[in-house]
Amino acid sequence: MRSIVTGGAGFLGSHLCDLLLEKGHDVICIDNLVTGNARNIAHINSDSFTYLKHDITRPIYFGDKIDYIFHLASPASPVDYLELPIQTLKVGALGTYNMLGLAKEKRARLLIASTSEVYGDPQVNPQPETYWGNVNPIGPRGVYDEAKRYAEAITMAYHRYHGIDTRIVRIFNTYGPRMRANDGRVVPNFINQALKGEDITVYGDGSQTRSFCYVSDLIDGIYRLMMSDFTDPVNIGNPAEMTVLEFARSIIEITGSKSKLVHRDLPVDDPKVRRPDISKAKEILGWEPKIALEEGLRNTLEYFMSMRSEL
Ligand code: NAD
Ligand code: UDP
Repeated sequence: MRSIVTGGAGFLGSHLCDLLLEKGHDVICIDNLVTGNARNIAHINSDSFTYLKHDITRPIYFGDKIDYIFHLASPASPVDYLELPIQTLKVGALGTYNMLGLAKEKRARLLIASTSEVYGDPQVNPQPETYWGNVNPIGPRGVYDEAKRYAEAITMAYHRYHGIDTRIVRIFNTYGPRMRANDGRVVPNFINQALKGEDITVYGDGSQTRSFCYVSDLIDGIYRLMMSDFTDPVNIGNPAEMTVLEFARSIIEITGSKSKLVHRDLPVDDPKVRRPDISKAKEILGWEPKIALEEGLRNTLEYFMSMRSEL
């Protein structure tokens, strides 16, 4: 089996490359390193692995067969996509279009990494795949949310009109080793603030909720979905919902830090609640998360501690 992973030098993509190599695939990792890091794939020492530095908003051609395309390339953290609004829109639109073209040419199966952000600031909690969402298209987050909604729409169009074999995973907040310490997301922010004894920055009053999934669970869900025959979107995430304030307190407890909580402005359009309804993933993929928050956070903490000299 020959697989492409776009965004393969990023947080999730690099873990997916590891899993695919373990399963015996030849893996081609395509990444322009805009938010990723070559360090995430530096440990891979295998003849079955190729890294190509390429911006997938430009077309790419391959002579050999390709069986699977896992399309994960996109800035993913709110701080990143607010700094890179045009690149985010382009990779969601042109990048997805180019990968669909490649899938059509190679008769490959393509999975796109969509997101819980397609539900926007949801008025339904938990969110089932049937919920159409509540997205502000012209707000600052719209560059990411609408890029992903467009990516879903063009993927379904290629599936319906060209018969391309496609999969759509809607990923909910995922954390773990290889997240960038300064990507601005809540998990690296809080852990690194706690490790340095700095104030922990809770945005707004901290009553907004999120549900955190550990990376190995998420990657297992993505692999199962790709190997299934299900073409509608599937939520993959951990339904254990908590407020951001509760999350900050867990970080203080696990790290034993003396950091204090401080409040900062809530970002515009920050969703007030988020929790995946994973009935479909359970039923179709036999998937549910296995790693509890405490275990996942300890692994992540260990990673950030081991990286401290480089951060
Ligand atoms: P990440 O930033 O670590 O990884 C994204 C990778 O894509 C980076 O290595 C980056 O360099 C690469 N990339 C971006 N634009 C590119 C381009 N034009 N050409 C080639 N490579 C490009 O983020 P992540 O958390 O690993 O997210 C991976 C995917 O999963 C993204 O599509 C993201 O939207 C989706 N997702 C992630 C989460 C999460 O909680 N981690 C939640 C929902 C969705
Ligand atoms: N957040 C926070 N402090 C931080 C970073 C984030 O309180 O230093 C909040 C943010 O406002 C949001 C939640 O934590 O409500 C998750 O934010 P993140 O950037 O990780 O991802 P999002 O779920 O918003 O895409």
